[in-house]
Amino acid sequence: MSLLERTISWLEEKNPNQDEFLQSAKEVCEYIVPIVNANEDYKAHNVLQRILTHDQILEFTVTWENDKGYPEVNRAWRVQHSNALGPYKGGTRFHPQLNISTLKFLAFEQSFKNALTQLTLGSGKGGSDFNPKGRSENEIRRFCNAYMQAIYKHIGPNTDVPAGDINVGDKELGYMFGEYLRLAKSYDGALSGKPIALGGSCLRAQATGFGVIYFVQEMLKSQDKQIDGHSVLISGAGNVALHAALKALQLGAKVLSLSNSRGVLIAEEGLTQQHLDWLLEEGKKETNSLESLAKKDGLLYKKNESPWSLKADIGIPCATQNEINGDTAKKIVKNLSFGVVEGANMPCTQEASDTLLKSKLHYAPGKAANAGGVIVSGFEMQQNAMMRYETEAELDKKLQQKMSDIHQACEDESRAQGNDKANYVQGANIVGFRRLADAIVAQGY
Ligand code: GLU
Repeated sequence: MSLLERTISWLEEKNPNQDEFLQSAKEVCEYIVPIVNANEDYKAHNVLQRILTHDQILEFTVTWENDKGYPEVNRAWRVQHSNALGPYKGGTRFHPQLNISTLKFLAFEQSFKNALTQLTLGSGKGGSDFNPKGRSENEIRRFCNAYMQAIYKHIGPNTDVPAGDINVGDKELGYMFGEYLRLAKSYDGALSGKPIALGGSCLRAQATGFGVIYFVQEMLKSQDKQIDGHSVLISGAGNVALHAALKALQLGAKVLSLSNSRGVLIAEEGLTQQHLDWLLEEGKKETNSLESLAKKDGLLYKKNESPWSLKADIGIPCATQNEINGDTAKKIVKNLSFGVVEGANMPCTQEASDTLLKSKLHYAPGKAANAGGVIVSGFEMQQNAMMRYETEAELDKKLQQKMSDIHQACEDESRAQGNDKANYVQGANIVGFRRLADAIVAQGY
């Protein structure tokens, strides 16, 4: 059996029924096993199995009081994947379907993403099966407080620095940081993505979405093109999707869609600044902000449909994992002219990803294209450690530079692997892997 075959069967044996984790780990193995085979140090230090395994998983119960005075119980986890490159670092997701397989895949992907940033960031991911939809403000605050009571002993600016993710933004992180201050009595950067009033960084909320568009700009630039005048399909309607739409619009692109779990919003003439401002502010109060906007401003909202049957130049999936399957990817190949750039983590199934890679389209994975969020989290950690603030303009410039560096590194690695057209998936996996692997070898065993 080859090293790749041995590794895949070892992964399957050790992670039964964890489909999402296996999907992301197998994809990475395809690209990194040849690198391991060619490096005696990596083989001697069993780098492969060490990178494919988390350091530890904390599993805890969050008991909190609802508005009726009744104690509710939720499950929660923190996957601390690797601290070889810095403190464990990654977001916190609240979602009723969250499970350990999803968190393990997210923490694993985070390892490569964070390595690509060249910052001092290890990797992790956490969250709970708590569903904030339909909950009152007080319930969300009490849940966040109880979540922090369970986790605060395991985090810290040099240990593990959680941030936000789906359904966790600066408001929730503010509640968590308040509880951290009461319990740990240490004003430090143990969380990132905090409200600016609590030591958060300018631009953190916009960073993932803006970073995706900066990455798109770099991809276009390397084909002697500019984003101005291109049409863009975006799925999702959360923080990443809305800020990607905003930056695309600012740079002269036409944003034709957004979507949520119930349907797609279509703006044939392109979304305007007013539409996006409304979604970022007022929309938060609505149960279906996209449908409300469509009704209010005469746009189209199609129930139970996605953006992927529309025609455009660029597709930016920003919803959630595995939203695009093989059949949808085939439609995308017909409907788009330039490429697909992932704003979400692993929005494509393996079949979809293979289809896009074989097609004429340019295709960039989330671990490279959506690194902007964790990059500004890294800047927030630096600002907290130095007890200072940087301006939005300074941070934006640094974010653009980092996204450009990641793009360049992926493109260079892809070229070194013999590709004519850039294979950003291969480039991102190998560049991230080498940085992690070198740190693991250097720390010995
Ligand atoms: N959840 C974000 C991600 O998927 C950000 C993580 C962070 O800022 O630590 O990269």
